[in-house]
Amino acid sequence: MNEHILLVEDEKALRTTLGDRLRREGYVVDLAADGQEGFDKATRLPFDLIILDVMLPVRNGFDVCRDIRIAGLATPILLLTARSETVEKVLGLKLGADDYVTKPFDSMELLARLEALLRRTPLRTGQTVYQLGSICLDTRRTTVTKQGDPIYLSAREFQLLRYLAEHIGVTLSRDRILRHVWGYESDTFTRTVDVHISSLRQKLEDDPKKPELIVTVPGVGYKLQEQ
Ligand code: CA
Repeated sequence: MNEHILLVEDEKALRTTLGDRLRREGYVVDLAADGQEGFDKATRLPFDLIILDVMLPVRNGFDVCRDIRIAGLATPILLLTARSETVEKVLGLKLGADDYVTKPFDSMELLARLEALLRRTPLRTGQTVYQLGSICLDTRRTTVTKQGDPIYLSAREFQLLRYLAEHIGVTLSRDRILRHVWGYESDTFTRTVDVHISSLRQKLEDDPKKPELIVTVPGVGYKLQEQ
């Protein structure tokens, strides 16, 4: 199956080389050179994934990302950002992006991120809102709230929470979580899972020391408890 990718990038050289690279990987690629053209194509044609540069003429990537979500499209969006400040990343994710790559990036890394996003359960057909006690996870809007207040998660924390929510009540081993959430980083250690679970608990649990949402299953892994 040839997934269709929309690449929105104003730098001609990057648009051309990345477009060619994606085609060599077997993707069907459509290009847009500014934010308006990107938004028009994204809302008019079906895509499996959108690569969206943030610094774009006419309309910037954040606006385009937000408007694509407002238009009701759940197509995965990978942001290309030249900025590394956390606030920019958080803003992008809050506006509905699924992941981001900071320029300059290695094309292998970008391809791996794409594959990870495309491999996930299709958002269009899957459940998009999970009510987990006082926590509400909206995978379409890419938001998490606790009693209505926004909770800011990193991209990876969000992916991890989503993976847990998609398997609510199921005990998941660290290896399985690693494979699905970090799949492309083969040298990542299972300890990474523990670190991210711990930070999720800090943000989500009433008492992070006595977690009632994300529980540890001794000797196996973790489970998102049905509330
Ligand atoms: Ca740009």
